[in-house]
Amino acid sequence: MSEQAQAKQTGPLPVVSWLKLPEDGEPYLEGTKCGACGAVFLGERATCSKCGARDKMATVKLSNKGKLYSFSIVHRSFPGIEVPYISAIVDLDGGGTVKGNLIGIEPDPAKIKFDMPVEVVFDDALGRKDQDGNSYISYFFKPAA
Ligand SMILES: [Zn+2]
Repeated sequence: MSEQAQAKQTGPLPVVSWLKLPEDGEPYLEGTKCGACGAVFLGERATCSKCGARDKMATVKLSNKGKLYSFSIVHRSFPGIEVPYISAIVDLDGGGTVKGNLIGIEPDPAKIKFDMPVEVVFDDALGRKDQDGNSYISYFFKPAA
């Protein structure tokens, strides 16, 4: 019982380790920047895959704005997953490339433009919970106003 009570106190959990939920601020995505060549990667890296530098990687807060690099409209998925949805790849301003779902726009290829500006938004992970009852916060992209 005490473990369950503890799980409830932690509140929503991030769906991925590089989604950060600071207690006193807005959620953000975290990346790693190479001090030698300036390349930015999503999540944690010990070595730069662009220039090969080691021990020069620093943690950075990634931008919540970016541009749509590519997308795919998904019509078939796992049971229980609502379709169609838009799976997107976004290049964040300042570096970092992230895959996620594009929301707030019809899944119609005529309406979705490559390079369109998008922003990263954070919300409940579609009501999914783990076996301990924890809810999850995920990130989504939506067209920038
Ligand atoms: Zn590098």
